[in-house]
Amino acid sequence: MAEKKADVLVITPHPDDAEFGVAGTVVHWSRQGKKVVYIVCTNGDKGTDNINIKPEELAKIREKEQLAAAKLLGVKEVLFLRHPDQTLEDTPEFRKEIVRLIRMYKPEIVVTSDPYRRYVWHRDHRIVGQVTLDAVFPYARDIWAYPDLIDEGLQPHKVEEVWFWASENINHRSDITETFDISARPLKSGSHCAHLLIPHPSQRL
Ligand SMILES: [Zn+2]
Repeated sequence: MAEKKADVLVITPHPDDAEFGVAGTVVHWSRQGKKVVYIVCTNGDKGTDNINIKPEELAKIREKEQLAAAKLLGVKEVLFLRHPDQTLEDTPEFRKEIVRLIRMYKPEIVVTSDPYRRYVWHRDHRIVGQVTLDAVFPYARDIWAYPDLIDEGLQPHKVEEVWFWASENINHRSDITETFDISARPLKSGSHCAHLLIPHPSQRL
């Protein structure tokens, strides 16, 4: 599998989470010339209370909306993993899928959902955050974690920083004053860009 460089990989549970979580910062990065790539883990086919919209139809609508939002925000590429909504689990298969993408795109920054938000939190958000964090460290970094990925030409990669959205332990705020208007456009509401930023653990060892 060929390597393709991205500066930032945004790994989102559902189509729309990244717009709520990091849109203003994504526009900021895009305007700086950084290549931002979205990985959308589920098809979001259960995200409605309208019984007249069938799951297959909803999944199609949400992909279309996600592509439109990504284009508006300057995202260079969107990959849909198309797992069914509300079915993600922390499995070796899903972890490897994420490791493969991290090794393929070799991002400096990975952005995802904070898995450690307490109490009510969408299970897919918790699982994606946890699996992504584990994929970054140690699995994407360590050469013997997946010898078969080495055989495919996917060398280990060390992500510099992980950013979480929806964190209860914010330690980093991006100034999105200049990008707020455009970042809020995909949503009816606004966007917030406060994060928990974690340097790669091996930088502190
Ligand atoms: Zn979501």
